[in-house]
Amino acid sequence: MTKKRILTGDRPTGKLHLGHYVGSHRHRLALQDDYECFFLIADLHMLTTKPGKDDILAIADNAREIVLDHLGIGIDPHKVTFYLQSAVHEVYELQLLLSGLVTVERLQQLPTIKDMADAAGLEQIPYNLLGYPVLQAADILMPKAHLVPVGKDNESHVELARQIARRFNNQYGEVFPLPEAYVVGGTLVGTDGQAKMSKSLNNAIFLSDDPATVRKRVFSMYTDPKRVSADIPGTVEGNPVFIYHDTFNPNKEEVEDLKRRYREGKVGDVEVKEKLAIALNNFLDPIRERRAYYAAQTGFVDELLYEGTLRARQEAQITLSDVKKAMGLTGVWNKISRAAERRRKKQLAASEA
Ligand code: ATP
Ligand code: MG
Repeated sequence: MTKKRILTGDRPTGKLHLGHYVGSHRHRLALQDDYECFFLIADLHMLTTKPGKDDILAIADNAREIVLDHLGIGIDPHKVTFYLQSAVHEVYELQLLLSGLVTVERLQQLPTIKDMADAAGLEQIPYNLLGYPVLQAADILMPKAHLVPVGKDNESHVELARQIARRFNNQYGEVFPLPEAYVVGGTLVGTDGQAKMSKSLNNAIFLSDDPATVRKRVFSMYTDPKRVSADIPGTVEGNPVFIYHDTFNPNKEEVEDLKRRYREGKVGDVEVKEKLAIALNNFLDPIRERRAYYAAQTGFVDELLYEGTLRARQEAQITLSDVKKAMGLTGVWNKISRAAERRRKKQLAASEA
């Protein structure tokens, strides 16, 4: 039986951090065996909030880093098609053809668009930002994906893609499977205690950080502020240091012991953080090792992205052709071009006679 397909991806704005891993990428790892996976580097999406030339010039390097981060966590390069969105021109066409199946009001009602504009400091919404979910629908429908792993925040976009697919099928004929969101989750707090780890908030630990950097970031982590000395009982719940321990320290006994002593005021922050730094570095060691292994093979990642993009283009061409046939657009061009060719042939025959 052929495997069902997954479409998901990342905007090439920087390297991946522990938050990405927790909220999204660890689930990709778990799904790669059971699905045929298409992972896009969503550079066209990046243009909605970061259209500057400098941002664009950084795409290639960021794309390489993101692919390396995936390989680092154990994504198998043979199982996944990584591709560069902007190099799959068929997607631009597909977006336009799908854009008639959604209203401006429907897009304006999505809270995500306003949130993204706010986060990017935009007072007005550019046309491409409003159309972001339509492009996302084109991304999803391009490989005829069944499953779309996304964070809770993006669930409404997959719902829209599903609606667009349903409308297309009803109006023009069955072309698309109806995609489903696979809501993955958990938001990881930042090292500063802010709700979300984010590179723009400078509260992130990156998958590629070296052991000394990880240790330094852990030692500057926010903990219970009322604990000015080690003998004051502290709060474990919601404390980032213990959230990280729970998430990344496999030694549950050690974590429970630290929590107990923390609550009783019988352990210093230094010990808690020292053990966290060790646990995090143990977690990251194999990731860094695999990352280094692939990074050392010059051109490997570029070749992977190149081949993947060609592969994605093949799929995109098939889908676009299905779409145009179903809509009858292929027929329009065929009528015109055949008639034109007939005339040409006639003229040629006349001139030869
Ligand atoms: P950053 O916020 O670090 O600048 P980004 O802007 O590339 O990174 P987002 O657009 O904020 O990333 O998030 C992309 C996806 O990554 C989200 O849908 C979510 O699944 C996941 N993600 C990012 N940060 C976190 C986090 N701190 N905790 C959980 N998931 C996260
Ligand atoms: Mg962000």
